[in-house]
Amino acid sequence: MTSSPDMEHPVKAVGYAARDASGVLSPINFSRRETGDEDVRFKVLYCGVCHSDLHSVKNDWLNSKYPLIPGHEIVGVVTEVGSKVKKVKIGDNVGVGCLVGSCRSCDQCAIDQEQLCPKLVFTYNAGTEVTYGGYSDHMVANQHFIVAWPKDLPLDSGAPLLCAGITVYSPMRYYGLDKPGMHVGVVGLGGLGHVAVMFLKALGIKVTVISSSPKKKEEAISKFGADSFLVSRDQAEMEAAVGTMDGIIDTVSADHPIVPLISLLKPNGKLVLVGVPTKPHEVPAFPLLAAHKRTAHKHTSFNQFQTQTSKYKAHKRTNISLICAHEQVSTTNIQITTNIQI
Ligand SMILES: [Zn+2]
Ligand SMILES: [Zn+2]
Repeated sequence: MTSSPDMEHPVKAVGYAARDASGVLSPINFSRRETGDEDVRFKVLYCGVCHSDLHSVKNDWLNSKYPLIPGHEIVGVVTEVGSKVKKVKIGDNVGVGCLVGSCRSCDQCAIDQEQLCPKLVFTYNAGTEVTYGGYSDHMVANQHFIVAWPKDLPLDSGAPLLCAGITVYSPMRYYGLDKPGMHVGVVGLGGLGHVAVMFLKALGIKVTVISSSPKKKEEAISKFGADSFLVSRDQAEMEAAVGTMDGIIDTVSADHPIVPLISLLKPNGKLVLVGVPTKPHEVPAFPLLAAHKRTAHKHTSFNQFQTQTSKYKAHKRTNISLICAHEQVSTTNIQITTNIQI
């Protein structure tokens, strides 16, 4: 007997979908799979609005398949679990980030780096198969990719940790920009940048926010606790800061030059790019090789989610609402606890 899409995905759902690249979302009836043995189904209560959602809705990355239901900072309450689910139970709060599947057997999956798995499955617009995101009434996912939500972490303001949070936290840890006393720059103060400043301050790091807009200074310093502020268009300010930073986390997704940022690094400094501009960066070799500086793209391992959560809570600004950016997160072993010490 052949199976039809309705047989494979028989559970009715409603959501908001983009039908084309116009940027307009409208209600849609669709369906999700039945709850399998390893699956967790939950009612969606909140879903962050990520910059990737906006890029995807408008087909900025030329890979959107319509209808497209965005959303990968999804939190809610469990309504059904499969017979083999041990991680959570009905009534628990849970979350889903940017991935809902991987091969679970390759070298990368074996070390909890599913975001690097060649068979990873994104939460929406997966490409390899049809997936729909969290702008919907309910969600179903394998328990491996389900986050057990801490009781004392608010669902609404905590949701951006599922993408924006881990996108900046993971590279901080991976690239060693996490040592008290270091000086780290954060480029851009919108979503990702907000969270990056909070994490860095919680880690005891001196933070300089770098922005093209002087209007962000007050917010950066008074509201988010940054130590200093640089206007990237101010030649004198930028020259005064040359060679002062151990690392920079660049969160900007608009096209912008990065050579001036490289000059701010100390020898062996690291520039980590977590924004995704539509045009390629121009990176001449000389500024990099002259002082052993390096650029890297984000490293987003979700098995660090638990320590991320504790540091986020350690900073006292947890109720700031965030509208954020960015993707490709492994959801391995996301059992969040809130009392882990780094
Ligand atoms: Zn794999
Ligand atoms: Zn995202």
